[in-house]
Amino acid sequence: MSPRRVVIVGHGMAGARLAEEIRRRDPDRDRVLVTVLGEERHRAYNRVLLSSVIGGSMTPQTIRLPEAAEVDLRLDTKVISIDPAGRCVRTAESTVDYDVLVLATGSRSWVPPTEGLVTEDGELAPGAVAFRTLDDCERILERARPGTPVAVLGGGLLGLEAARGMAGRGCLVTVVHPVGHLMDRQLDPAAGRVLARTLESLGIEVRLGVLAARYLPGDGLKLDDGSLVAAELVVVSAGVKPETGLASAAGLTVDRGVVVDDSLRTNDPRVYAIGDCAQHPGTVSGLVQPAWEQAAVLADLVTGTNPAARYRGTPVVTRLKARDIDLAALGDVHAEVDSADAEVLCLQDPARGRYAKLVLRDDRVAGAIVIGVPEAAATITQLYDRGGPAPSDRLSLLLGRSLPAAAHSPADLPASAVVCRCNTVSKGQLVAAWRRGAHSPAELAENTRATTGCGSCRDTVRGIADWLAAAEPPSRGVRA
Ligand SMILES: Cc1cc2nc3c(=O)[nH]c(=O)nc-3n(C[C@H](O)[C@H](O)[C@H](O)COP(=O)(O)OP(=O)(O)OC[C@H]3O[C@@H](n4cnc5c(N)ncnc54)[C@H](O)[C@@H]3O)c2cc1C
Repeated sequence: MSPRRVVIVGHGMAGARLAEEIRRRDPDRDRVLVTVLGEERHRAYNRVLLSSVIGGSMTPQTIRLPEAAEVDLRLDTKVISIDPAGRCVRTAESTVDYDVLVLATGSRSWVPPTEGLVTEDGELAPGAVAFRTLDDCERILERARPGTPVAVLGGGLLGLEAARGMAGRGCLVTVVHPVGHLMDRQLDPAAGRVLARTLESLGIEVRLGVLAARYLPGDGLKLDDGSLVAAELVVVSAGVKPETGLASAAGLTVDRGVVVDDSLRTNDPRVYAIGDCAQHPGTVSGLVQPAWEQAAVLADLVTGTNPAARYRGTPVVTRLKARDIDLAALGDVHAEVDSADAEVLCLQDPARGRYAKLVLRDDRVAGAIVIGVPEAAATITQLYDRGGPAPSDRLSLLLGRSLPAAAHSPADLPASAVVCRCNTVSKGQLVAAWRRGAHSPAELAENTRATTGCGSCRDTVRGIADWLAAAEPPSRGVRA
């Protein structure tokens, strides 16, 4: 039988990973031929790390993603339409036939209706830049010189990461957010206040509950309270919208995203969708962990490696990747302290930038916000992943002291504890990789992919490698 032709639209984090996962399962192209059509001109890169490029700790070269060999990769190639009946997609230059089509078109920046922000030809006005792609990042860095006044439109996760990065470069940054508190999707108002205070202590001005009414290129943003935020550069980071245009034009079912089932299949049995553009009932879109889990499931299906593979959703944890700020949020964070159906505990220490809120249901972690207490974030996240009962001493848990100091050693982590969230790698998988001969953090990363997503697990993986080097030195050989 001739191999199936799988065409992937989008060479972002989901599309590039799917191509790699397919080649891992079918290295000799016996079962599947892969064509990837990507609109961006760059080779695959880790979008999650763009804020580190803005912050200066990474470069466009160091955020390159591994790419599959034996793939027909066409960069700078935008798909302009899908013909489901003819089973082909069209680009400006050609038509590409498929047996299986995968939409991995991600999302695009949402631009708020601020007067003057968009020109007549639909582009952002001069001096305004979105924050989504490597090209955006390069445009931001061209202008973000020390002393440059910058306004960041949007106080969500990405806006704050960009703000912190540019403040670290010496820009004079003001964040303008229409809601009364920062990161309102992931934080409650009290946590938002603690975060705002922390940002202000780092030299970032925060303007809350105000709309940017008008953009005046060169001057800045006129707010709806009449004030002006001076800015030579405006970074637009006000939210994202799943990129669903191709799918709706082709008659596929689209709600917020392209609607898929547990096989990642759309209402057309030959068309699948993964990543930010897909809408699966169990997924909060906009994060890389679901995208990469979906890529693995779909690779199992299209190569026939595991026809029973299904994607059932991903319990996500949001982390802010900004120097000097440690923030994690997960699950239901909006339950009130006097909630009738949940036990809610909350500790606030705004002067030291600390906040910890825990929501328990049936003695299990249902949600949490932890700012400035990394030990508590680690323990609570583990409990959340495992679904295990919370210790009776809730306060110790909130303070990160529920385990004796020695128990923070990797030895005491359960094997099932997820160490790298982006790639869903557990401690047990790292130990197994060590026993197969991966004897350094770099080899563990190569073997398991741990640390290759947002990178926030790097210290933990190094700790596990150090612990294993002492407990099972490589010279002793491989243990069963
Ligand atoms: C600055 C920043 C920081 C982030 N930080 C985190 C984080 O810490 N943790 C986390 O989990 N997530 C984070 N994210 C979100 C994460 O990057 C996305 O969830 C992830 O990239 C989704 O992968 P995707 O492939 O679905 O979409 P994308 O990576 O956006 O890729 C989609 C690709 O499809 C291409 N495309 C679109 N339409 C077409 C077309 N018609 N033809 C051809 N190509 C097309 C696009 O050009 C793009 O290259 C961050 C995002 C940004 C921008």
